[in-house]
Amino acid sequence: MVVAERKPIEEILDMIKEFDKVLLTGCKGCVTVCNAGGEKEVGILASALKIARKKEGREIEIDEITLERQCDPEYIDQLEDPISKNNYDAVLSMACSVGPQYIAKRFDTVLVYPMLNTSFIGGSLEHGVWAEFCQACGSCAIHNFGGLCPIARCAKSLMNGPCGGSSGGKCEISPETDCVWHLIYERMSRLGQLDKLGNVVMFKDWTTSRDGGPRKIVREDLKQ
Ligand code: SF4
Ligand code: SF4
Repeated sequence: MVVAERKPIEEILDMIKEFDKVLLTGCKGCVTVCNAGGEKEVGILASALKIARKKEGREIEIDEITLERQCDPEYIDQLEDPISKNNYDAVLSMACSVGPQYIAKRFDTVLVYPMLNTSFIGGSLEHGVWAEFCQACGSCAIHNFGGLCPIARCAKSLMNGPCGGSSGGKCEISPETDCVWHLIYERMSRLGQLDKLGNVVMFKDWTTSRDGGPRKIVREDLKQ
């Protein structure tokens, strides 16, 4: 999933300091799962902003709505009604950064502000802890590495590791970060595939990665 976290309240208050009436929009997708931007977080942020404004002696009106997803035009369309009927100063999005861009794309004359910092593609390690597992390089090669990704999980994205800086199974960047090459070695050892680690993994085709510019997937069979 896309993992995100809410911007600091001070940053948000500064962003919206000129506004008196806003629409705060959540998303029931990934950001609900990572507790950053679902219905509950929309309510919490709305309350926090109202309290902060009250302390400043200036009220703010905040309407709340949480869409099924903000990365699908059909759900963004559901904002048409509240936006057309209310004179909002701005729309605030608690989706990953696709959400505010979809709102901006759909509503030409509406100011849109991101409430979250979109961080990475990852998963939950334990309650309240998420980690990065993929950098969306566009041509997955983890079968070469025992099913673990050195691009996303090695600090140097080494395809032929390790770098020699690991200690006790931890990466040299931090004693709290596993050296993924240590994990790759251990896993391939368990799989009886250590001999494969002797093969040099050749240059990867990076044309599928972000370096080639914004990417697009077209499924002709699904197009109408
Ligand atoms: S090899 Fe690429 S697609 Fe596969 S997990 Fe790593 S970054 Fe993601
Ligand atoms: S210590 Fe391991 S994870 Fe860290 S940079 Fe070196 S090879 Fe990569």
